[in-house]
Amino acid sequence: MTRPRFGTFTGGIDLPDDKDATIDSPIEAVGRLDRLRVPLSPVQAPPARPTVRPGQYVSRGEKLAEAEAGDGQVDIFAPLAGQVAGFCKVMLPQYPAGWRRSEAIELTDLDTVRDIGPVTEIFNWQSADKHSVRLRIAEGGLTTFSRSIASLADYIASARQAKVDTLIANVMENTPFITSDHRLLAEYGGEVVRGLAILARATGATNVILAVDHRRTDAYRGAVAPARFYGIHSISLAHKYPIGAEAMLIKVLTRRRAGPGRSGLDVGVAVTDAATCRATYRWVACGELPTARVVTVAGSQVARPANLLVPFGAGADEVFALTGTDTEGGLIYGSAMTGRQVVGGVVISHGANALLGLEPQRLTTPTPCIRCGWCSDNCPARLNVAALNDDFELGRPAAARRHGAMACIDCGICSYVCPARLPLMQRVGLLKEAILEEIPKADLT
Ligand code: SF4
Ligand code: SF4
Repeated sequence: MTRPRFGTFTGGIDLPDDKDATIDSPIEAVGRLDRLRVPLSPVQAPPARPTVRPGQYVSRGEKLAEAEAGDGQVDIFAPLAGQVAGFCKVMLPQYPAGWRRSEAIELTDLDTVRDIGPVTEIFNWQSADKHSVRLRIAEGGLTTFSRSIASLADYIASARQAKVDTLIANVMENTPFITSDHRLLAEYGGEVVRGLAILARATGATNVILAVDHRRTDAYRGAVAPARFYGIHSISLAHKYPIGAEAMLIKVLTRRRAGPGRSGLDVGVAVTDAATCRATYRWVACGELPTARVVTVAGSQVARPANLLVPFGAGADEVFALTGTDTEGGLIYGSAMTGRQVVGGVVISHGANALLGLEPQRLTTPTPCIRCGWCSDNCPARLNVAALNDDFELGRPAAARRHGAMACIDCGICSYVCPARLPLMQRVGLLKEAILEEIPKADLT
């Protein structure tokens, strides 16, 4: 892997790694589950229409629900063989903050979760045109596996419309505890790289980059040769947090800057991750539907930390129980920096890369701002975060917009460093939602 000189960014912090418990743990199947509650809206769009009835037995990969054409949703497939017990509601993360309800299909009498098996290529994607590749991605109900979940076929269509020239696979994963993408690249590097090549073909990007943490390159030897074969640049970067945030990675690797509230597509750059790439390869080339997610379960309250292959719809409570997690502590869905506290009814879906069990004292009661300035000093978006906190407390979204709230990249540094333990990232996220409700995206800059 090359480590050429790239720019950096102002702000940001060095976080503790805290990955020893799982960094060398091979991915394993989660264990026997009592039930799955498979969400019908993994994408924040109208739910897919069920195609099964209560009492019916379904096989693994059978279609459970069909998306309406053009509404942004994806088709839903059975993650395991089992019996349809009925319909219910589950909780999924809402980007950038909070939770949302989703309708779901409950499956019981489940087959066991299998380990990741070998696959054989059955579709010659190298000679397929980009339209057929995108159509195949749509047929498999693929989504992006990042924090903000979208239909992958729709994301590709937007990337093509934006005429992207660069595609970056972001495997920086530089928040504490989480090693799920690291393990995917270490164990399935060839598949991740081939998936990235498929996505490059589908989007039309010609400058394709695999970006990894410079401390982990020894583990990625299996990815280097395939990357060279497909003309992919493997680049290792220093780990200052939040270099894995899309805006920072694009800035460092391409020197392009998306304006406040804009995405990489607006500056000709698409960004993906190891989980999306691997799922793309397995479905497009080998016909294996994406029905599970690799989830790191770690933290001081977890008796058996692991990287687990967890089917979509598994309850967070069941996964915590299977790993011997003390649920009296702070249970977090996602990263320690940007994740949210687990509530009842949470299930694993496409964006769930981690479940953390942390000691309770990390979740403390906020006190008033003492004007220390640490939040602004470390903010990579160079925002006056204390002023934004005032805007939140005084209910002033218009002032927050003037203070640049839309440039926030949801990195969580402000909340992490604040000695008053104010939930600053969540507050700025709520201000952004209030601003977006009033202002069309075209007028944001
Ligand atoms: S305001 Fe946004 S970008 Fe700045 S530190 Fe907080 S979460 Fe990060
Ligand atoms: S870090 Fe917290 S206490 Fe310090 S200025 Fe920012 S909001 Fe106030």
